[in-house]
Amino acid sequence: MGRSPFPRSLGELTFPEVSRKLKESSILCLPIGAIEQHGAHLPLNTDVVVAEELTRALIARWGDQFDLWQLPTLSISLSLEHDWAPGTLSLSVQTFAALLKEMGREIVRALPARNLAIVNGHGGNRGILENLLRELRSDLALNACVIHPFDLAGATSGAAVRDVHGGARETSVMLALAPDLVRRDLIAGAEQPPVPDSVAALIFDRGVTWPWRTDDPRLARTGIIGDPREASAERGRAMVDSMIEAARDVFARLLENQSFMGKAAR
Ligand SMILES: [Zn+2]
Repeated sequence: MGRSPFPRSLGELTFPEVSRKLKESSILCLPIGAIEQHGAHLPLNTDVVVAEELTRALIARWGDQFDLWQLPTLSISLSLEHDWAPGTLSLSVQTFAALLKEMGREIVRALPARNLAIVNGHGGNRGILENLLRELRSDLALNACVIHPFDLAGATSGAAVRDVHGGARETSVMLALAPDLVRRDLIAGAEQPPVPDSVAALIFDRGVTWPWRTDDPRLARTGIIGDPREASAERGRAMVDSMIEAARDVFARLLENQSFMGKAAR
């Protein structure tokens, strides 16, 4: 018994191996998860599992071609919209931003690689990550991008209720990646959000941003926005496969961006 090695995990290298194996053109992959409620049928660490397992799958598929390396997972991020639920752990915006900036500084200090692909398992981190990318570039000359797995997979639910949290997409991917963590017997009882129009108005309106929460009775009754009853392992597998294929172009683009780093005005 013992854990099996993952040769492209930074943490499993020895210090002399770092300078021998990593280069300026290597791409570091940073999984970011969250510890937050995902309804009664999915565990608190759903976003950690998704970010980490997808990162490993990406590295297994493209690691040799693009020289990918897995960084240790950041498991706690911005989950204030779920803080009503026992077990949800969240950082403040300031701390999360400072943590990522510090990570960037440490990467530049400790590693030869100058490319960073963040694999973001939690949608609530999107806004801040978009802005942090520019700071990582302008302040640290770190060439970075953020992969949003569910959007990269191009999966639309086609359901009456938009799939936001703990619904068909997330449940499907968990059924594919970590089936033993899904409480299947609790899926059938999942409820639709009370007012579907509220999801459109409070979450998806591009004209206005609202501080929506999953304990808002207009959005959710049991912490879920979406319909996990539509989930299946096959669908999850298809989403994972489509994400892995789409990521090829992301890594190619990231390397292309690196070749323009010195040329574009920062
Ligand atoms: Zn999630």
